[in-house]
Amino acid sequence: MKIAIIGGGLAGLTAAAYLSDNLGTEGTVFERSPQLGGRAFTYQKSGFTLNYGAHAVYGIDRHTLQHMEQELKLQFQSKQVDKRKVMYAKHGNLTPAPLDFINIMKTNVLKPFEKVRFVAEIAAVIGNIHQLKHYQTLGEYLDHSHASADVKELWEHLVSSNFFITPEDARKVSGEVIAEYYHNLFLSHKPVNYILGSWATITDQLIHKIRENDKWDIALKEGVESISLENGKYLLNTKTRQALEFDHVIFAMPAQQVVKLLEDTSWSSFLDPYKNNSSTEVLVYDIGFSKVVARPFSYISDMDNKLFISDVSATDHTVAPETGQLLQGIAYLNDDCMEEDEKKQYLDGKVQKMEAMFDQYYPGWRDHVEVKRVSKKAMVSSVKNIRENKLLPNEIAQVPFLFCGDGCEGKGELAERAFSSGRKVANLLLKDQANIKSVVH
Ligand SMILES: Cc1cc2nc3c(=O)[nH]c(=O)nc-3n(C[C@H](O)[C@H](O)[C@H](O)COP(=O)(O)OP(=O)(O)OC[C@H]3O[C@@H](n4cnc5c(N)ncnc54)[C@H](O)[C@@H]3O)c2cc1C
Repeated sequence: MKIAIIGGGLAGLTAAAYLSDNLGTEGTVFERSPQLGGRAFTYQKSGFTLNYGAHAVYGIDRHTLQHMEQELKLQFQSKQVDKRKVMYAKHGNLTPAPLDFINIMKTNVLKPFEKVRFVAEIAAVIGNIHQLKHYQTLGEYLDHSHASADVKELWEHLVSSNFFITPEDARKVSGEVIAEYYHNLFLSHKPVNYILGSWATITDQLIHKIRENDKWDIALKEGVESISLENGKYLLNTKTRQALEFDHVIFAMPAQQVVKLLEDTSWSSFLDPYKNNSSTEVLVYDIGFSKVVARPFSYISDMDNKLFISDVSATDHTVAPETGQLLQGIAYLNDDCMEEDEKKQYLDGKVQKMEAMFDQYYPGWRDHVEVKRVSKKAMVSSVKNIRENKLLPNEIAQVPFLFCGDGCEGKGELAERAFSSGRKVANLLLKDQANIKSVVH
């Protein structure tokens, strides 16, 4: 069974690691950029480890990485973000984010009677009896809820930070999806952890696994440009090679790019429902200091300005030199269409707000900057998990390919969906192969 995997991000590497662990398979991972990892690509600069995307893992004790640790024998350590240092800033005041009962008691985001209400809501989610799951969206639930404005705002804010979308978009997430997500997360003993050493700790081991099987190749700088079907085989064309023959093809790239790649083929119309999906885009401001400038929190979310800053090195000490500090600031971007000039002003405004937030909590930071990377348009989630979007299924009737990635159906959000869908499609192929073998015998 010869398999092509298009995309060398978390999803493609996961699928390839599972498949290459099986002696009956051979294949190639095609990656169009010069390096693997996709949006989880990690690199070193002046002693700092910079991730293109952050490496926070939500509910690691109930996460797909637990299966991968056992099944692929991955080795990694993680560290819990200090919950007492996870803060919200509202109207200029800093207060603990109500992540657990202790923080709920301490926070100023809610008044005492609202705290009782919110605890009851959490208990209902844990018990799987919360009404939210019966509503089409969080917004519809909140419109019918008798909770106070602060409790409603807290729901929007929680969903916004876990689903990595703006609070406005949080209102568009399906009630069922949210209820299931928080049922899992509230039962977790480890709500927010960082993988020590960043995503590279995982991707390096997946790559090593793939390379252990000499029937598997990794083709870098080799984007797939077109696909056709001839005599039961799939023929792939890249910039440098033509008509490479495979029995199966797995797409492990953002859903929008899948739609584009299959645009002029007979399969295109089956992808129509996924054509207009929107993604989450953010401005990312990574900054490394030569010393610990200040450490007032591990994470702070500015509820008024829709920005947040993670002190990544406060949890994962491996990503900064011993005496240094690494922060990642993120600002949500709205997806309104704008003229170039207007867009530039809008983005510059976000940078200024972010720097003002650094000024407020890290006074004097400008004198200690060692590394800085500002990315004005980073795609966090290729398909925003809101009701009007449709995640790409792992299999589509009448389309002979498999699909994985964070824009596909799978367990969890963000990187977890990339891992879980990568694992799922590999298992689907392996199951198929086992069935063929048992018919032949
Ligand atoms: C700023 C930021 C912060 C984030 N923080 C977190 C976090 O804290 N926790 C979390 O869980 N997730 C986080 N994420 C999300 C996480 O990084 C992504 O969900 C995950 O990396 C997606 O992996 P993927 O394999 O689905 O897609 P990708 O990483 O996009 O991989 C797809 C790959 O396919 C390649 N490709 C595309 N087209 C072709 C082609 N035609 N031929 C060959 N190759 C092709 C691309 O080059 C890419 O390498 C964050 C993301 C960002 C940007």
